[in-house]
Amino acid sequence: MAQDLRSFLDLVKRNRAADFQIVSKPVDARYEITGLVAKLEKEGRRRPVLLFENVSGTTFPVLTNLHASRGRLATAINAAPDKMLETYLRAMDKPIPPRIVKTGPVKEVVRRGGDVDLLALPQIVHHERDAGPYVTAAISFAKDPGGETWNCAYNRLMIQGRDRTSIHLTLGKHLWEFHKLAEARGEPLPVAFAIGVHPAIALGALAIGSIDEDERAIMGALLGEPLELVKCETSDVLVPAHAELVLEGEILPAARTPEGPFGEFTGYSLGERQREIVRYTAITHRRDAMFQDITVAHLDHMLLSTIPMEANLYRAVRAMIPSVKAVRVPSPFTCYVSIEQRLPGQAKNAMMAVFGADLYMKRVVVVDHDVDVFDDRQVNWALATRCQPDRDITIITHARGSDLDPSTREDGYTAKWGVDATAKPSVAAFTPRHRVPPDVWQRLRLEDYLG
Ligand code: MN
Repeated sequence: MAQDLRSFLDLVKRNRAADFQIVSKPVDARYEITGLVAKLEKEGRRRPVLLFENVSGTTFPVLTNLHASRGRLATAINAAPDKMLETYLRAMDKPIPPRIVKTGPVKEVVRRGGDVDLLALPQIVHHERDAGPYVTAAISFAKDPGGETWNCAYNRLMIQGRDRTSIHLTLGKHLWEFHKLAEARGEPLPVAFAIGVHPAIALGALAIGSIDEDERAIMGALLGEPLELVKCETSDVLVPAHAELVLEGEILPAARTPEGPFGEFTGYSLGERQREIVRYTAITHRRDAMFQDITVAHLDHMLLSTIPMEANLYRAVRAMIPSVKAVRVPSPFTCYVSIEQRLPGQAKNAMMAVFGADLYMKRVVVVDHDVDVFDDRQVNWALATRCQPDRDITIITHARGSDLDPSTREDGYTAKWGVDATAKPSVAAFTPRHRVPPDVWQRLRLEDYLG
């Protein structure tokens, strides 16, 4: 399987030409790219990959909306659309370590030092109130400053000069931890960002698990072959050899800069904060590199991130409750779980498993196996008819959650709640559901009565 973005785009074009649209008409990098994707999603109900050839202020074409379809993401990891969870879990179970290669297409153009100019990149402003242009499709690659553990993550970057961006390091997560360790030694943390990659690499970057789990090996397992990495020009950081573009730099110690507001996946434009600074030492890219954008807070962003989340949460709940049926992340900070409850207390164990497995999870609703968690009406029905709030709501106070949750008093310092919407003491012993008797249901043929 080829591991570059271009061969994946060829596959998309071959499968369904209408899923890839080139826009030649000039567009303004401020609002128009996001505006067109959002409008297409809302009014056109279409989600093609879009390649903007003429973007104001840059010679780079912009590719966006790549991840906006479950079918495309399934194709990327060689899975049937309804087997993505299984495929992702298999990749987590059987990671394939990366392979280091001498060089790759990402080195076709190398700019270092004074030739680094982030202002030559597309200066994409996504939403009203955003503080400036943001890079939303940058995958960070970094190493534990005191060890051999590697980490990959998506981090939003606000362009703040020719060789400088701010970076949002999710408080309490892995890259934030690496930076804390480096900062304690008074050292910068070498980092590189890959922009424009095969969607299997994107999905792998979002794997949630222990800091010791190597996302690069999950990328390999999703690709079905080792991810090929090359060494950076200005550090020992390893980056995907087939990326469209790589930014090399370091996160500075003891330096912060104002960042934001920025419209995020929560649906809010969260205000300005003091955040870490990245100084860039090189840019390398393909000769005719496409600059990838993720249309933040729209399907391109939301579909991509929930698949790895659901896989991790399913794994965590299954470790506790073997009879778990399904897990879904329907909206920010929220998880629905259905279980075949065999013993009292398992619903609460499911909640604890979810809270223990994902920093972002703030509300868990547990339902019985006869409720389809992919149908919000059914979940609401269970909440209404099987739940007594004074008995079934568990509140956890003073925990760590997402620093992007606007309802928290202090960024990310939050309460969490679990709702047990399973029937008590069990579905079998609960008031029976009504139904048409099965023999009548079988016998009735609509066409006999209604023509
Ligand atoms: Mn990690």
